[in-house]
Amino acid sequence: MSLVLIRKTAPTEAWLAALRDACPGLDVRVWPDTGPVEDVEFVLTWAADPGVIAGFPNLRAIFSLGAGVDHILKDSTVPAALPVARMVDSSLTMGMVQYVTMAALQYRRGWEAMRASQREGQWRRPELGGARVGILGLGELGGACGKALAALGFEVAGWSRSAKDIAGIRAYTGQDQLAGFLARSDVLVCLLPLTAELENFLNRATFDQLPRGAYLVHAGRGEHLVEADLLDALDRGQLSGAVLDVFRHEPLPGGHPFWAREDIIITPHNASQTHPATAAAHVAANVARARAGQALIGQVDRAQGY
Ligand code: NDP
Repeated sequence: MSLVLIRKTAPTEAWLAALRDACPGLDVRVWPDTGPVEDVEFVLTWAADPGVIAGFPNLRAIFSLGAGVDHILKDSTVPAALPVARMVDSSLTMGMVQYVTMAALQYRRGWEAMRASQREGQWRRPELGGARVGILGLGELGGACGKALAALGFEVAGWSRSAKDIAGIRAYTGQDQLAGFLARSDVLVCLLPLTAELENFLNRATFDQLPRGAYLVHAGRGEHLVEADLLDALDRGQLSGAVLDVFRHEPLPGGHPFWAREDIIITPHNASQTHPATAAAHVAANVARARAGQALIGQVDRAQGY
C-alpha cells in the first residue's frame, strides 16, 4: 500500500526523504507517478487539481501539507466520508509566531516611519503604535502567537467560535462578542481558516469597528479579505497600514494596486511553512491512527469546514 505526495509547484526531495525515514515500510510516491491507483492508501497534498483525489478508490485518509484544508474541501469530488487532517507541526507554529511578532513589533515601534526618516536624513522619533493586539482565530497558530505577544508586553485578546481559557489572553467568543473584541484591537491579526462563513470577513464593516488608525496583519487566506474595502479603509485613515501574506490570486498579479502602496507590506505567502523534517512525524502518527481506525491528529470537522 502507498502514500502519494501531491505537491505540484515545489520540490519534493526533502519530503520524500523525511517520509521514507518516518514511515518505513510505506511505499511513498510522488504524483503523477502513483503506481496502481487501487494501492493508494493515503494522500498528502497541497492544492491537488479537482478530481485527482477522487481517482484513488481505496483511500483511508487525506493529509494536508498545510494547516489550512480549504484547498481539499473545495473539491466537491472528494468523498464526504473520508477523514481529512490538517498539518500540526511545531516548526509551522514557530514560523507563524515569528511572522506575527515581527509584524506587530514593527507597527508598535514605528519601524517603517524610522526607515522613512532615515531616507530623508532626519533624526526623528516615531510615535508608538497601539499595544492592544486582537487575534482572529485562537487555534493552534493564533493561541501560540497570542502567548508570545503577551510575553512581549502586548495586551492580547483573541476571538474564536468556542470559549477559551488561555493565560495572558482575553478571550472573546462568537458573533455576540465580536464588536467588543474589534473595538479594543489596535492590531488585528487574522489567523482564521477559510470557511464559507468567513469568506469576505475582513470587510468595511469589520474595519470600521476597529479603533481609528488600526493596523491589519493578515496571514489567513486571501478570500477572507475584501480588497477594495482594505484600500478604502487605508485611504480614509480608518486603517493606518497592513501586512498581507495571502491573496485572492497568488502570486499577486503584476499591476495589482497593493504593489504600489507604501502603507501595505506584501509577503509571498511565506508567513510560515511546513518543514518535512518535523512534519513527517505527524504524518507517520496519522498513518498509524488511520490504520487503527482512530481519530486523526488535527482531523477536521468537515461540516464546520476546518
Ligand atoms: P485551527 O483550526 O487550530 O484554528 C482555527 C481558529 O479559528 C479556531 O480558534 C476556531 O475557533 C476559529 N474559528 C473558526 N471559525 C470561526 C468562526 N466562525 N468564528 C470565530 N472563530 C472561528 O487552525 P490553525 O491555527 O492551525 O490555522 C489557522 C489558519 O491559518 C489556517 O486555516 C490557514 O488559513 C492559516 N495559515 C496560514 C499560513 C501562512 O503561511 N500564511 C500558514 C498556516 C496556516 P474554535 O477554537 O472555537 O474552533
